[in-house]
Amino acid sequence: MKKILLSMILAAGASALYLALAQSAEEARMARPLPGAARDAGGPVERSVLLDDVRTLASDAFEGRRTGTAGSHRARAYLRERFGAIGLLPFGADYLQPFAFSTRSVANLFTPGRPYRTAYADAANIVGYIRGSAAPQRYLVVSAHYDHLGVRGGKLYPGADDNASGVAAMLAIASYFKAHPPRHSVLFAAFDAEELGLQGARAFVAAPPVPRAQLRANLNLDMLAHNDSNEIFVAGTYPWPALKPLLAQAAARSSVRVLLGHDRPLLAAGLVESWNDSSDHAPFNEAGIPFLYFGVADHADYHAPSDTYAHINAAFFVRVSNLLVDVAARMERELDSISP
Ligand SMILES: [Zn+2]
Repeated sequence: MKKILLSMILAAGASALYLALAQSAEEARMARPLPGAARDAGGPVERSVLLDDVRTLASDAFEGRRTGTAGSHRARAYLRERFGAIGLLPFGADYLQPFAFSTRSVANLFTPGRPYRTAYADAANIVGYIRGSAAPQRYLVVSAHYDHLGVRGGKLYPGADDNASGVAAMLAIASYFKAHPPRHSVLFAAFDAEELGLQGARAFVAAPPVPRAQLRANLNLDMLAHNDSNEIFVAGTYPWPALKPLLAQAAARSSVRVLLGHDRPLLAAGLVESWNDSSDHAPFNEAGIPFLYFGVADHADYHAPSDTYAHINAAFFVRVSNLLVDVAARMERELDSISP
């Protein structure tokens, strides 16, 4: 018995030591940015347009863009107008792709007056594309969720960083491709109901507007504008290493510190959190579609009423958006070699 106890203690000690070592190795790895430029190379993003999109979507009139609300409808109308002005093509008659879903909450079973099951009949993704000149049947999907938390307890959650910023950067990428026609098709998806469990992305991947095999890669943007250390995280190169060289090439032209991580199995990473399931790239990854996810580390205004336009780092956000145009252009050019 004593021997068994001793070996159990040793095994537990060894596992704890392994996890601690794996964690410090992972943290050291994540703290080293890809080699970047001392000065920013700039890029084609129009600063005033980019910031206007964030300011508008995060304004009071949009009421925090909660799925199914009047504020969400206003956001849809704004995005349809922007898609049209940029010159994106709809699949069918409209950019709007409605879907329905329901959520279940075990916690609500213990909260009087709250339903266990909530049905959402009025959700919709906004989807458009630019047709490729050489291989139009192969698509790069650029995505960002436009929904946020709405009004809770009388407080408006504007979601400027989460995720008006990602939507604005996606629109900047769309404008770039309109001016520089791609060889492959590029699809732009503003997803609804991410905050309710990645519902818009799940509905899209379950029933895409083109055969799913034609979706060759996903660039997902969620929280790009709020960081005081000039740092952006990228997840996806661990499960999809073929994406790393193009990312390194883009990072080398940017003064933003590009950090890789949050994409390794939990034990190998010493329990450092994986973001592979954290946003709309998850359903793509699960369907075997390579992805890159860009997002800042969590901050004090995350999921708070203080996630306002005034709190974003505008200069940082412009730099990140130019980096993303470069990344998207490279993903499009190399689409045939980066996807399995
Ligand atoms: Zn988000």
